[in-house]
Amino acid sequence: MSNAYEAAIIGGGPAGLTAGIYLMRAGIETILLEKQIVGGAALNTEHIDNYPGFPDGISGSELTGRMAEQARKLGLVIKEFSRAEGVGYTDGFFETGVDKESYRSVGVIAAMGTEALKLGIPGEETLVGRGVSYCATCDGMFFRNLDVAVVGGGDSALSEALTLANIAAKVYVIHRRDQLRAQQILQARVSRHDKIELMLGKVPLRINGGNEVESIALRDTKTDGESELKVSGVFFYVGLRPETGFLGNLADRDDAGFIVTDENLRTKTPGLFAAGDVRRKSLRQISTAVGDGALAAVNLEKFVLEKR
Ligand SMILES: Cc1cc2nc3c(=O)[nH]c(=O)nc-3n(C[C@H](O)[C@H](O)[C@H](O)COP(=O)(O)OP(=O)(O)OC[C@H]3O[C@@H](n4cnc5c(N)ncnc54)[C@H](O)[C@@H]3O)c2cc1C
Repeated sequence: MSNAYEAAIIGGGPAGLTAGIYLMRAGIETILLEKQIVGGAALNTEHIDNYPGFPDGISGSELTGRMAEQARKLGLVIKEFSRAEGVGYTDGFFETGVDKESYRSVGVIAAMGTEALKLGIPGEETLVGRGVSYCATCDGMFFRNLDVAVVGGGDSALSEALTLANIAAKVYVIHRRDQLRAQQILQARVSRHDKIELMLGKVPLRINGGNEVESIALRDTKTDGESELKVSGVFFYVGLRPETGFLGNLADRDDAGFIVTDENLRTKTPGLFAAGDVRRKSLRQISTAVGDGALAAVNLEKFVLEKR
């Protein structure tokens, strides 16, 4: 079965939702396909304090919830739990495949964001959902008054450690280097927090546990000595990767899989645009994703109007 629209947006994070708002306001018939629920990566953070307009900060779910409400009010068709699995391009039309359905459109905006990278150590995969997690906001509540570890030293790791510190008894932040990579403001908040302990220069070796996580084994980078830390949960924030393979050869990608665009967010296929974290760019934030969504939408609008 095929459904026809003028524009299809793949991904319902800040970039995709903003594109939806702009396209609906321009009178372009648009559908947004989201593999989970709308909101995107920002759903994972409780406190965003660098998005303009909110001097006291705002939670990611509230901010993106408002974006989705605005898009829906304008009539944007949002299909949740609809994962785009392939995009074809024939005779000037795109066909985006979702399960057994496909969506035909004149233009497409790829706004799939990124996925959390796996570290690949023993126990990580087998204990997912039983103590291993990639989302503190989603799973943190299962660790009330328990000890947990966060693996990583960047913004996401520290921001999630702070989220977990509201719930857990103790949060260990494990990072392989001697210094954290995160913004100074986050580092300062973490070092002030009496429930958070930094464990620098430690490499995770494996997660131990039968049915549930019991501990994490660590190697010290200076002494090579092995130690074991008793925790009930391990949260990984070791990097992000885009899932862009399903676009086939419609778009060029860099070595890490990020979509390469020109300054108008066009890919090499006319009518296919990319916006937000999924694109090769130097800053991945909500503000830049929102800017990308607007720019991609305005250029897609021009493309559609020329074809009408
Ligand atoms: C823990 C954490 C804290 C953060 N804190 C901040 C902060 O304080 N300030 C800030 O500005 N930024 C922050 N960020 C970064 C910010 O969340 C991202 O830069 C922003 O969400 C990117 O928006 P996006 O729309 O490009 O992608 P995303 O928000 O990742 O949205 C992409 C959407 O596409 C969907 N999708 C993926 N593949 C498919 C598919 N095949 N079919 C259909 N749907 C698909 C995903 O499910 C997702 O909903 C944080 C990120 C994390 C992880």
